[in-house]
Amino acid sequence: MARTPDDSPVFTHPTNQDHPDPNRAGLRVAVADIDDALGAVSRSGDARLTNAWARLVNLLALGPAPALRACPRCGRAGMRDAKICGYCWERLSPPGP
Ligand SMILES: [Zn+2]
Repeated sequence: MARTPDDSPVFTHPTNQDHPDPNRAGLRVAVADIDDALGAVSRSGDARLTNAWARLVNLLALGPAPALRACPRCGRAGMRDAKICGYCWERLSPPGP
């Protein structure tokens, strides 16, 4: 687990089951892995696979990964800007800059 400048823990393993949306986080990792693997395929000159992949990724509409932080009381991951922990209902102070 990494730390932000304000020393609040940040979850960096996107498939962690403690993630608020582990399925979507796992999809982001899979998409990145296939994007990486397709780099070699796209150099072959046949763009059908890379074009089909681009359409699929567009339809998935995953968007950017949300910023997360750990609850200071229970330690579970939640959205960075959340005002209340979704697990233990602790009121959360605003995140640092
Ligand atoms: Zn909590």
